[in-house]
Formats: sequence, C-alpha cells, structure tokens
Amino acid sequence: MTYSASAFLKKSVCFAAALIFLLSGIVPSAGAEEKFAIYPPLPSGYSSIKVFDREGRFVGRIMPAEKYWVSIDRIPRFLQNALVAVEDARFYEHGGIDIRGIARALMRDVVKGKMAEGGSTITQQLVKNRYLSGAKTLDRKIKEAELAIEYERKYTKKQILEMYFNEIDFGNGARGIAQAARLYFDKNPEELTDGECALLAGVPKAPSRYNPLGKPAKVTARRDVVLQRMVELKMITRRQQKKLRAHPPTVMQPGKDPYCLAHIRGILVDKYGPQVIEQGGLDVITAMDLNIQKLAERTLSEGVKRISPGLQGALLCLDANTGDVLAAVGGVDFDKNSYDRAFTARRQPGSAIKPLIYAAALEKGITPGSIWNDAPVAYNRGNNEVWKPQNYEKERFGDLTLRRALAYSNNVVAVKLLDTIGVPYFIDFAKPLGLSLNPRSGLSLALGTDEVTLKELVSAYTPFANGGRRIEPRLITRIYDRNRHTWTENPPSAAPVLSPADAFVTTQMLKDVMVYGTAKSLRKFSREFPSAGKTGTTEDYRDAWFVGYTPQLVTGVWVGYDKPQPGGRSFTGGAVSAPIWGRFMRSVLAGRQAVDFPKPDTVVSCTIDPATGFLAAPDCPVKQNEFFIAGTQPTEYCPKHGGVAFKPMSAVPPQPVQNPQ
Ligand SMILES: [Zn+2]
Repeated sequence: MTYSASAFLKKSVCFAAALIFLLSGIVPSAGAEEKFAIYPPLPSGYSSIKVFDREGRFVGRIMPAEKYWVSIDRIPRFLQNALVAVEDARFYEHGGIDIRGIARALMRDVVKGKMAEGGSTITQQLVKNRYLSGAKTLDRKIKEAELAIEYERKYTKKQILEMYFNEIDFGNGARGIAQAARLYFDKNPEELTDGECALLAGVPKAPSRYNPLGKPAKVTARRDVVLQRMVELKMITRRQQKKLRAHPPTVMQPGKDPYCLAHIRGILVDKYGPQVIEQGGLDVITAMDLNIQKLAERTLSEGVKRISPGLQGALLCLDANTGDVLAAVGGVDFDKNSYDRAFTARRQPGSAIKPLIYAAALEKGITPGSIWNDAPVAYNRGNNEVWKPQNYEKERFGDLTLRRALAYSNNVVAVKLLDTIGVPYFIDFAKPLGLSLNPRSGLSLALGTDEVTLKELVSAYTPFANGGRRIEPRLITRIYDRNRHTWTENPPSAAPVLSPADAFVTTQMLKDVMVYGTAKSLRKFSREFPSAGKTGTTEDYRDAWFVGYTPQLVTGVWVGYDKPQPGGRSFTGGAVSAPIWGRFMRSVLAGRQAVDFPKPDTVVSCTIDPATGFLAAPDCPVKQNEFFIAGTQPTEYCPKHGGVAFKPMSAVPPQPVQNPQ
C-alpha cells in the first residue's frame, strides 16, 4: 500500500498527537522489583562440547540448546554502553519513547512517503520483540509506544536493559547474550573483551545483515560504526577506538561438518541424556579424518549436482579393520535440508543386498563355478498372486556361472539362489551382519526390497573386506572431561561372522563387477587398486547404490530423491553411484600402496570350464581359474570336452550344484 504524501502527513500528525497524549500521563518509574527473568539463570560451568578429528583437528562445537538468563551485572559495562550508543543514545533520558528520535524519523518517513523503521528505543524494541510482530502499521507503532511507556513505569533502566540483552536476537539462532557469547566467542558474557562487545552490540539492529559469521570486511565495518558512535558520545577516547580497531576479535566459525556434529550430538544424547549437552565442557575425539571428510563432501556434492539439482546423496567410508568412520556425508546441502541419509534414512538396497545371499550360498556348499539358468520362473505368493522376477533390462543369458550372474546382477538367478538356500536360512545368516530382514518379504529379499540405512549396508560389507569380521561403525573414539581426563573410551568392536574362505571367495566374485559387470567403468581403478563391490538399483530407478571396498576401506554411496521418484532409465548404481565412489576412492588412496586381499589356506583354486562348471579338460575351449572354499571344488573333468571322470576316494558331495528347477 502506498500513501500520497498528504495522506501520510495526516497519519503522521495523528501518530504524534497520540504520542503526546500518552506522554502526558507519565509518572516517574517506581523501580518495581518484580521477577522478570523468563529463563533459568546461566549456570557457572556452562560451555560447549568441542569435537576433533582423529588427528586432533578441530571439527566443530555442539552447543547447549537451552536458553539461560544472565543478570545485568554479568553483562560487561562496555557492552551496555556500546549497545546504548548504537541503538538508543538517549536511553537513560527518555521515558520509553524518544520524541526527538521520532520527530526525525517522521520527517524521513514523510519525505519517503512510507512508514520506515526509525526512532525505536531499546524499550520499544524490547516490547516489540516480546509482544508484537507483523507489518509496520500505524496501529502497531502506537501499541508499541504504549507498551514501552508502561514498561518504563514498571521497570528500572537496568532491568529493561537486562531483559533486552537476554531476549534479543543476535543472529544464527542465538537468542540473548548468553547464547550469543557462547556461539560467537565460546565464552560466558562476563568474559567478553571490549572488542568482542563492540562487535556484538552492532548485531541486534539487523541480525542477518550484520551477521558476525558473515564476510569479515562487513563485520569489521559494523563494529567500526559502533566504536565511532561511542567516541561521539564520549564513552571511549579516540585512542581506545584506535586500539580496538587494531585488534579485531576472532569469531568462532561454525562446524566444518554439520551432519557429523548433528549425529555425534544424537549419540551423546542417546547415551548420556540431554543434560550432557547442557553441561558441556567435553572434548569429543572422533574417528573421522577431516581431509577424507572434505574429499567425500566435495566428490559427492559435485557428482550429485552434475546429474540433477534436486537430487540427494550420501557417502559413508569406514576403515575396514577398525570400523572407524573416516567420512560420513549425510546429504549435499545441510543448510537446506539437514536430514541424515548416511545414518538415518532407510531405503531399499536393491541388488546391493545380493553379495550377502551369495555369501550365504557359499557357506552352504554352492560354488562360484556352478551353472545356473535365468529362464523365467513364477512363484505363487498366495491369494492367487503370481510373482515373476525380471532382470533389469529384461535380457536373458540362459546358462551362466554364479560368478557371472553376480557380476551382471542377474535378478532371476538371485531369486533362484535364495529359493535354494531358503529365506529363513538367509535371514539367520544376515542377522549377525547387522541386518534384520522381514521374513514376510519372502523371495523378494533377493532383490533388496527390505529397507536399510547406508550405515547398515556398509557395515554388512566389512566382513568381505577384512576376512570375515563384522565391524561396528565407530564415530566417537574417546571423550575427555573438562580436566582432560579420559571420560569414556570406545574401542573397536568386531565379531567373526563369515569364514575367511567365504569372505575371500565372495570378494573374488565381486571383483568381476568392476571388470566386466554392472560397474565396469571402475575397471581401471580396480586394476590399480585390488577392489570389489556391488551396484544396487531399485525398481523404477529410484535408488542408485554402490558399495565397494579394498582391504583397507569400505565405502558406500547412495544417490536418490528424498521423496522417492524414478530417476530415469540411466539412473543406475553403475552409472550414477559407482563413478562417485571411484573418484572418491581414487583421491583417498592416491599415493598409497595397493594391497590385495590375502588368500586364506582354506581356499583352493582350480581351472574350470565356465560353460560346464567342471574341471577344465585339455579340449575345453574356455578355461578359467576359479576359487573355492576348500572341499567344495569340482572333482570331475569336463565330460562335454572329453574329460576323463576322476572320482576321488573321499566323500566329496557331487559338484557342481545344478540349478534346481
Ligand atoms: Zn569343457
């Protein structure tokens, strides 16, 4: 709404008249001693929790969440003066509203033809902050003046200032001076230096414009305005001004890893209750490597934004032997959306679940060289419902080895394999790997229909990387109390869940995924750094996964939309997540020595004919080396190519296992 100048002038005159009427009733303040603190008093030991990475580099702070009240005698005199200087120079003289200031503001408003902010005293700002909000209307202005005058009658100047300092917005979520001093300087108010006071006094006028975490030049400029006003009002000398200008205070920057800090906060609250955050004073040492963390954030964010702007992603990198969370990225933009997709979000893993089914099958004596057929199969789900699992591109291979079926992520074979070993067996097998799957999902478990977190999935792969031990991800390694005494220690926790032979043979199969399988774009990487992994793509291309590992690191990448929606036909784990994984791992491993997975004594290798699964006979057209858990290797030569049957005396079960149909 715009006013014509004359109409506005009329309104302004009305406003002035209303004020004069109000002022005529003023009586001197009685200095009431009533209680006006609206939060509990600031405890003496109040401080933040500091978080460090594994090398002792500062990661960030976890702040107390509650608001606390500080009495005026704990607020430095310098800060009180600085605020009065910049906000309301006649604060100690006026009775709640500043007629001279209002007159000046009105003149400005008349000239501009609109109601601008101006002439607002500290008292007016306080009552506005407490009771009033919304548009800058004339009514609201009058109400504000009325309340301000009432406050001046009821409270002393000291009390008004105390309320102001405790309630006003200092930006970035800091309400009141206790939170502001903690957030920007990690101090209690009485510990603030003059320079810090001058900086803080400039904020309440416009907390987002005068943001202390903003550009340093802007922060300094605002502080200089405050100091200049203090000189003009003879609160400080030019000499003091010069000295203060020469020593700008250092503002604490926010944490470098908000997702991780939020997660650590959650762990602390779960373990010790919310009061641990309020007491503060702890140093938390994490397993994180800040360099790897930064790499992870950058690689994920670039990779995801390259595909589509609204897309989200998560990355989790564990030390394969200790479970140390070296990097955890819960999303691509914490400020816009703080939801943690690394630890909290549950999504369908799709084919990324298959290595667990294959590992379970190996334990049952089924071998990578066994021949399977992906001919369509229909399952009766009851209620006359028939389920026909399909391969992603609806392609058919016919006969293929289990090894190839995994590399190509063949759905039909995965379902047949699960059917062979049995759903209850698989569910029991997956439990110690950290996944509790729903038996009612039935055979569709083979296609990863049960939701998991990225953390669960990556942890479930740790035994493949380290020879069979499932490692619990460890984010916090140690906590010190305020005297630097160890308060709690969190050693790695591991449990053997797979035989070393099973872990090794599964890994040997998963290497093929990166050579000719669904993540063959990683072939070059896998030649330089022995590695294995599996893609996952869910129905309608909603989630794209890649979980891969070397003997040292297990890393998982998820990409998708928070509100699941199809990503399009090219939105697959191999096309979307594997390249992000590859770029990240390449950077982390750059300059490190490549190591291969050590072969345990309980694994044997034989040359087989991959077309038949038997030991290769001299005339077999294709011969291939294959690994077997000792005792499960084939013992007969390929009959199709003139092999001579050789039956050992020992009672080895007949091999290979044929596709049960
Ligand atoms: Zn043959």
